[in-house]
Order: sequence, then C-alpha cells, then structure tokens
Amino acid sequence: MGAFLGRRKTVAVRIGPVTIGGGWDAAAVSSAGAVPSAAAMNPVAVQSMTDTDTNDVEASVAQIGRLRDAGCRVVRLTTQGIREVESMTEIARRVRSLWPDVALVADVHFQPAVAMALAGVVNKVRINPGNYFIDRAADGKEAESPRLAEMAGGNFAELVDKCRETGTAIRIGVNHGSLARRIVEQYGDTPAGMVASAMEFLRVCRERDFSQVVVSMKSSNTRVMVAAYRELVAAMDAEDMHFPLHLGVTEAGNGLEGRVKSAVGIGALLTEGLGDTIRVSLTEPPENEIDVARAILQACGLDRSRTEFIACPGCGRTLYALSPVLDEIKAAVGHLPGLKIAVMGCIVNGPGEMADADYGYVGADPGMITLYRGREVVRRGVPQAEALDALVELLKADGVWVEN
Ligand code: SF4
Repeated sequence: MGAFLGRRKTVAVRIGPVTIGGGWDAAAVSSAGAVPSAAAMNPVAVQSMTDTDTNDVEASVAQIGRLRDAGCRVVRLTTQGIREVESMTEIARRVRSLWPDVALVADVHFQPAVAMALAGVVNKVRINPGNYFIDRAADGKEAESPRLAEMAGGNFAELVDKCRETGTAIRIGVNHGSLARRIVEQYGDTPAGMVASAMEFLRVCRERDFSQVVVSMKSSNTRVMVAAYRELVAAMDAEDMHFPLHLGVTEAGNGLEGRVKSAVGIGALLTEGLGDTIRVSLTEPPENEIDVARAILQACGLDRSRTEFIACPGCGRTLYALSPVLDEIKAAVGHLPGLKIAVMGCIVNGPGEMADADYGYVGADPGMITLYRGREVVRRGVPQAEALDALVELLKADGVWVEN
C-alpha cells in the first residue's frame, strides 16, 4: 500500500468508548453482534500504559487522569494475578465514573485465568500468544504444549468466547522476544515466526466468529518490527482477514533515542497506511509518551490537533534571525490546531517550498518579511519587528484565531 493511497481498511474494533480502525464492512465477514459501524475510518488512537503498581489504586487512577489530561484515551495496566484483578475492578469502577471516555486495557502474561476474569471488567485484554496454547482437540490433535496448558489452566478459544459474550476486545500482542518455543523451533526468531504466531490465534478468532481483535508485532529492533507488520498484513490479506493493528516499538529507551526509534518504526508503517492505534514506549513517565505519539501522527499527516510548522533550516541566504523568530512564532500561534504555518528564511525556491502551508512567513529582503495565505502574497515588505503582529492580525481577519 503506497503512502498516498490512504489507510488500510479494517474491521472496526470497539474498545469501550474508543473505536479504532474501520472502513471494512465487518457485517460482510462476520455475523457477530455488536460490531460498530464499519463505514467510518476512526482516527489513529494514542495509547499508553501506567507504570504504577496496579494494586495501588489511588496512584493508578491518578496517573490515568494525568494521561487523559495529556490526551490519551486508551490506557493499559499490568495485571499479574488475582490480586490485580480485584484492584483493576476497582480502578475500572472509578475510571468509568470519573472519565467515561477512557478505555481500559488489561495486560496479561502467563495467567490466562486473569484474562478470563477481566473480560467484561475492562474494555480490552491484551494477551501474549507466547503464553497460550491452542486446543486442537476438536480436530483430533493434542494441545500443542501440555506444559503451557497446565500452567495456563485454560485456552484461547475459551477467552474468545468470554470476550464475545462480554463485549470485550482482545489484543493479540506478539513480542519478538517471547515467541513460543515451538514457533522458534519451526521459524526461528524471525518476523515469519511472529506472523505464524499471530495467524494461528487470528484463525481461532475467525473460526469462532469474533471480529473484535487487534494485533501487534512488537520488537525493539525497528527493522524486525516493520517487517513483521508488513508480513502480517500480507498474511491476513491472503486469508481475507482485516483486523486492525496496534503499532509500537518495545523497549525503545528514553530521550532522543527512544523518540527517534519510535518515530522510525511507527512512522514507517503509518506512512504506508498501516496502523490504527499506537503506543510510544518510553523509559520515562508515561505522560511524556502522548505528545510524542501525537507528533508522530502529525508528521505522518494523520493528526492535526497541533499547529504544524514547516521551517527551513536556514543557510547563507537567510534574511533574518530564523531560529529565535521561529520560537517566537511558535509561542504566539502554536495553540491553533489544524493550522500549517511555514517559516522560511528566504524565497529562493518560491512559495512552492512551503508545500501546502496555510500561511507563510518568508524573508523577502534583509529584515523584511512577506506574509502569505497559501501561495498568495497578502503583505509584502513588513519590517521584521512588526511581522509577527501582522501575522496574528491576518489570522484574526481570516477568523482562524482563538485566544490562548
Ligand atoms: S528557504 Fe532560503 S534561507 Fe531557508 S534554507 Fe532555503 S535557501 Fe536557505
């Protein structure tokens, strides 16, 4: 799928108050009830995960509130065991009453009984296929991993049925580092193994007429991650499956490295039209992830909730102090979502350099600025000291200004 062909159509998956994906006619591929309207393509949802102890209900609820304030509407919490099930139930009760627009996800590893207990309590359960087995008794084969079956005390098909009954979505969260041993033995530690792992679980969902499934293929290696998602989409297409994708780079780290790694892995796929919800994983307070996620979405043309600035790097032709002026302009008009403003040091390459900016602030002569609306010059030769005010006046006159 090319960058300009739009997003991949998927079945719409409802995670409580948040619906992701869409565009694919779910009714045509599933007779399951409670499938949201498939006509609309929903925005790519930003999600995060608390780093509190789930049993510290107060701290967890407080952090969910901070994530919501930052703009996050899908929050995942780790649920290791039955004690966490109780805590999660209380957290869900409080969050539903305080912020009904927030979807809650339980992250389950090793304990399928926990996923069973939380179906219906939270809006989505995330399971790791590396920790599950698929019961093949129905087609005459034994369960593939008796050891896991014993440890798990349940199987994936039972979880699917429970989730369908309770209106709970499932994320099949494949991790490069925790593939089942039998998968690694057959495919190695490869994207193909990750795809094989996801597909066998997706087939169970389809056999049981359950469409409310999201898939992720995470790795800390961006090349593996990108390859795994691409191969997964090809495998799903080959079997006429249209499940939405949760994108993320695991263990991306912090600071610049974590942000760049996430932008590379997530951004590469988003620009191809793949991805319906994203999580930027930073080794920092999770609230920090939200702005990064939004910036990635904006850079991929999928979100306009921030003001977008197009600015040249400056060079020997630059006709004013570009860097501080860009900061001033950002401070003055950076609260206007949906606007794209170009700040250019000179006009050497013409207004075409400003791509599809709504407004342009362009060096004309030394110390002089020309203001554009789109590609049209609206004021020429404004002294630089007055140019920011002139830009604000222009935005006001055009009715796109709001007070900060
Ligand atoms: S727009 Fe002008 S000032 Fe900016 S980098 Fe290009 S040539 Fe240099």
